[in-house]
Order: sequence, then C-alpha cells, then structure tokens
Amino acid sequence: MTDPRIRLIARTEFLPPDDVGFLSDAEGGQALAEFAGRACYQSWDRPNPATATNDGYLRHILQVGHLSVLEHSTATFYLTGISRAVTHEILRHRHFSNSELSPRFVPPGGPAVVEPDAVARNPALHEKFTAATEAAAAAHGELLAALEEAAEQSPDGTLARKQARQHAAGLLPAATTTALVVSGNYRAWRHFIGMRATEAADVEIRTLAVGVLRVLQDLAPSVFADFRISQLPDGTELAASPLVADA
Ligand SMILES: Cc1cc2nc3c(=O)[nH]c(=O)nc-3n(C[C@H](O)[C@H](O)[C@H](O)COP(=O)(O)OP(=O)(O)OC[C@H]3O[C@@H](n4cnc5c(N)ncnc54)[C@H](O)[C@@H]3O)c2cc1C
Repeated sequence: MTDPRIRLIARTEFLPPDDVGFLSDAEGGQALAEFAGRACYQSWDRPNPATATNDGYLRHILQVGHLSVLEHSTATFYLTGISRAVTHEILRHRHFSNSELSPRFVPPGGPAVVEPDAVARNPALHEKFTAATEAAAAAHGELLAALEEAAEQSPDGTLARKQARQHAAGLLPAATTTALVVSGNYRAWRHFIGMRATEAADVEIRTLAVGVLRVLQDLAPSVFADFRISQLPDGTELAASPLVADA
C-alpha cells in the first residue's frame, strides 16, 4: 500500500482579547481551548499549580471529560493517495466537514488504485488484484468514450459530458484513489483516532489515523499526547489512549 499523503493545511489561530487578563504559555488551538474553559468560570488567575500551565489545564479537561472546550479548535488536512473506500469511512464521522475529488474528474492516464499490502506481497493475489482493477479501468475508459461520443449530439453538451463521466465512474472500484480536504475540531479528531487507529480498524484507515495523530501531536501535544502509538507483529501501527472512552 502506498502511504497516504497527509498535509495539515489549516489550523486555529487564537487572538486573545486585550481586556481580559489571560496569558497562556501555549498558542493557537491549545490556547483557545484553555481560554474557552477558563471563560466558563472567569478563572483567569491560576491558584492551582496542577492546572496553571496550558498542558496541565488541558490534561485536566481530558480527565474530567469537559471535551466541549476542544470543539473550538480545528485542524484541516489535505489527504491524497487514499482510496474511495477510506473516504467512505471518513465521511461516516458526522462532525467532520469534507470536500472530495469529484468522481466526474478522471485524471490523465486513467484512475490509479490503492493496493493493500496483504495483496501486494502475495504474487497470486497481486496478479488477481491488478487484472481486476485494470479490467475495471479499461471498461471505464470504453464506457466513458461511448457516453462522451453520445454527449456530443446532446443539445446541452456540457451537462451531458458531466453526466457521462458520472455514469462511467460507477465502474471504478472502491480502491480508486481520491483526494479529500477534511476539517475537524480537536474533539472530533480525538474520536476519529479513538475509533480508527485501533487494531479492529482496516489497515488503510488505521495507517491514516496514526499519520494524522502524529501531525496533531506535533500541533497540539497537550490535547493528543495521551494516545500512544505501537506496532503490531505485522509491522503496521495502532494508537490507543487510556482516556479512549472519553475520546
Ligand atoms: C472497526 C469498525 C468497523 C465498522 N464497521 C461498520 C460496518 O460494518 N457498517 C457500518 O455501517 N459502519 C461501520 N463502522 C462505522 C461506525 O458504525 C460509525 O459510523 C463510524 O465509526 C462513525 O463513528 P460514530 O457513529 O461514533 O460517530 P461520529 O459521527 O464520528 O460522531 C461522534 C459521536 O458524536 C455522537 N453523535 C453523532 N451523531 C449523533 C446522532 N445523530 N445521535 C446521537 N449521537 C450522535 C456520538 O456520540 C458519536 O459517537 C465501523 C467502524 C469501525 C471503527
């Protein structure tokens, strides 16, 4: 399986109001989550050393499950080299906002596919997989060409050409690569990782969830550091948190 390409393309910027005595030792989404939490009780002074730092404060938020404050801060990723099977799974997470490559768009050279490692390392399975996906691509190309030719005769050629690509796209397998812009708040990302980085999840989405986690641990360590990444005997990775029930 080719590794998915995971690019962080947007993140929260926090602009502290100048008439509130709020100073955080963090920035961006972490500072915003702390601000939102402290705003509930106007607890701008920090009498308790355990929650005086941003890290201590957010750790406490995670422990007590006051996770709504994490919803203010967001991260947006541009994901490429992933299959439509995986985006189908991502789209099930209802708190994300998504923009996916249109199936009406066919890249020059025809559609590429994501081949699972378990298939790729077995020559017989690899051959079957390649033959099936190539046959699908060929059938797609033939159907598209015929539909596009018919579309030329249509009074509304632009619409008919779009519909031709849409009809032909039905022949493409779920392994076909796609691209997705996905935005989520920190709470939604924690939930996604909690569900999709586990051993029970399919390898492709698990690999993606662990990759996203690494970026988020760099972006907002106090919010995601409780997830620990480990390796399974087959070399693939998973991630889990002792707070996963609250994820
Ligand atoms: C290993 C695995 C196998 C799976 N297999 C299948 C399968 O065979 N078939 C299938 O259809 N799906 C399957 N799924 C998908 C799964 O059922 C969920 O749709 C998906 O994981 C999204 O998670 P979620 O529903 O918890 O919520 P999200 O949409 O991510 O929302 C997060 C949380 O918000 C709350 N929430 C969101 N919407 C509502 C609502 N309308 N009402 C009340 N609370 C809400 C819930 O607490 C929810 O857990 C599988 C998932 C995994 C991880």
